[in-house]
Amino acid sequence: MAAHISLKGKRHACILFPFFAMWSSAWAVTRYSIPEEMKEGSVVANLAADLGIGVGSLAEREVKLDILHSKKYLDINKDTGELYIVEKIDREYICNIKTSSCFIKMDVTLENPIRIFNFEVEILDINDHAPHFRKETMHLDISESTAVGERFSLNNAVDPDYGSNSIKTYYLSESDNFVLDIQTGSDGSKYANLVLKKALDREEEAVHNLILTAVDGGVPARSGTASIIVRVLDVNDNAPQFEQHVYSVNVSENSPIGTPVLKLNASDLDEGPNADIVYSFTLYTSEKIQEMFSLNANTGEIKVKSVIDYEEIKTLEMHIQAHDKGTMIQLSGQCTVMVFVTDVNDNHPSITITSLKNTVKENVPVGTVIAHIAIRDRDSGNNGVIDINIDQQLPFALNKSSDNEFALIISEPLDREKVSEYDITFIVTDRGIPPLSDNETITLELLDINDNAPQFPKSFCTIPVLENNAPGSLLSSLSAFDPDLHENQYLVYFIIEKEIVNTSMSMLFSINPENGDLYAFNYEEVKMFLFRVQATDSGVTPLSSNMTVNVFILDENDNGPGILPPYSDQGSVNTESIPYSAEAGYFVAKIRAVDADSGYNALLSYHIAESKGSNLFRIGTSTGKIRTKRRMSDNDLRIHPLFILISDNGDPSLSSSLSIDVVALESKD
Ligand code: CA
Ligand code: CA
Ligand code: CA
Ligand code: CA
Ligand code: CA
Ligand code: CA
Ligand code: CA
Repeated sequence: MAAHISLKGKRHACILFPFFAMWSSAWAVTRYSIPEEMKEGSVVANLAADLGIGVGSLAEREVKLDILHSKKYLDINKDTGELYIVEKIDREYICNIKTSSCFIKMDVTLENPIRIFNFEVEILDINDHAPHFRKETMHLDISESTAVGERFSLNNAVDPDYGSNSIKTYYLSESDNFVLDIQTGSDGSKYANLVLKKALDREEEAVHNLILTAVDGGVPARSGTASIIVRVLDVNDNAPQFEQHVYSVNVSENSPIGTPVLKLNASDLDEGPNADIVYSFTLYTSEKIQEMFSLNANTGEIKVKSVIDYEEIKTLEMHIQAHDKGTMIQLSGQCTVMVFVTDVNDNHPSITITSLKNTVKENVPVGTVIAHIAIRDRDSGNNGVIDINIDQQLPFALNKSSDNEFALIISEPLDREKVSEYDITFIVTDRGIPPLSDNETITLELLDINDNAPQFPKSFCTIPVLENNAPGSLLSSLSAFDPDLHENQYLVYFIIEKEIVNTSMSMLFSINPENGDLYAFNYEEVKMFLFRVQATDSGVTPLSSNMTVNVFILDENDNGPGILPPYSDQGSVNTESIPYSAEAGYFVAKIRAVDADSGYNALLSYHIAESKGSNLFRIGTSTGKIRTKRRMSDNDLRIHPLFILISDNGDPSLSSSLSIDVVALESKD
């Protein structure tokens, strides 16, 4: 028979299953059941009542409680017979956690007569412990390549309570990738395993923070948590990727070596060596291009490595790959870099001259082509547009025949006698900034034609000849000038025949046909000759001109003055007398003379060359009249000898002289 006392209030306990021991004495064992953790003073049972002993006799019979335990958890109130809690009882402390039942055994002893009663107080478990993880944080490193279904054991939680108050199950915070698998051990304990439900992707989520909750079966249930930090280990499952498949970049030709062109920046979603990128040219990039550009394997920087010539290559294509340093497998990505070279004005324009005539006749018609000019510039755009010029002053012009081809033509009539040779300089300039230019000079020589007649300095020439000129002497040089060349200027001179009376001019004069020197043979009474001299050049079609020559015979001073009577010339003394009282200006005498020549040779002048004594007389230079200059005085001589000189104006002058003695008389009688 079992009795049950419900536990209500502190003074009630329950008595469960009183039964007798099967094996030993005749003493019955009384058992009570109480929950652990009851407060001190709580009544478990009334021993007096349960043993059928009067309360008053307890003290009298010296009731004694012996607890077979290290601590005195319980005691008897000798006045009431109640068994009560002295110290809180912790089931988990006094009993092995795993045992299903937990008892505190005790003996109650009474004297007079001695009686011993055995009691057992069963300590019932209450849910006074929450599940607890020894490690609050669990770290798991799981490769992202781990197969679905893989399991990872977790540290389990502990709960010292018994049975349903201990751990009942585990829960996992919400996760797309993981679920829990809960196993029950042979002792009923629960174990949790983490199971991969869906494949991991480190690049999507590198760390999974999970919460593991352990729940017991108590009412109400208690729980404990631990965090699980799953670190996803990288696998090289991403290839490096360029931002663009194709890059376009402009590079100026002749850029200095080292000029940056482009910095590639590929990315790899992996980490560590799996994301370490190495850049390189692929086999599709020509050797030539690899010589022109450098690629930094680590930084992806492309730089100019050698001179780039736009005239050689205008666009070029590089194929570049980026591969990672994955240990098991290396992955790579590709891109194309298009380089557009831009032109720089680095080529001078050039000139090519063909079909060049070095010589032309001076009468070449206007419009005649002298040369063909081709100009060229290897640059592009304005850097290759060329302007060509020649000196505007020159009688030449450039006619455009096609793009960059010209004909050099004669634009004005030429004359070798003015300019015999031309230096023609072509200047070509491109339109680059700054412009470049070049020049080329050709020489054009003009060939003579006989387009000039000989020219005498004057059309009329007068040659005076002295009358006594020796026959055969040179009279004059009548040379003409011809500005042409060679035979066109080789002149021949001759006298055009003209009859004078009965005499041919060629009998009187001769001319040197080569130089125009004119000679006289002889001439008689004729004083003047008029004839024409002609000069003819030796051109194929000879040209000529002539000059009128006037030769006249000049007088020569071959006669001296002749003194006319009454005076006579030197050697005889002539005498004149004047009164002593003659006034100044008194007429003394007139000397007369003649000259057989003509002109100056016959123009006479009179001088008193020598006068003794005082200077009393003067003579008219042209008249020959002798007069007194003043009145005479007593100091003057009576006789005055005068020496008169008469000269012509020839060159040299010829003269005659006479002497006159002038006698002063007291009276003219
Ligand atoms: Ca518990
Ligand atoms: Ca990866
Ligand atoms: Ca990678
Ligand atoms: Ca260029
Ligand atoms: Ca150029
Ligand atoms: Ca000429
Ligand atoms: Ca000539």
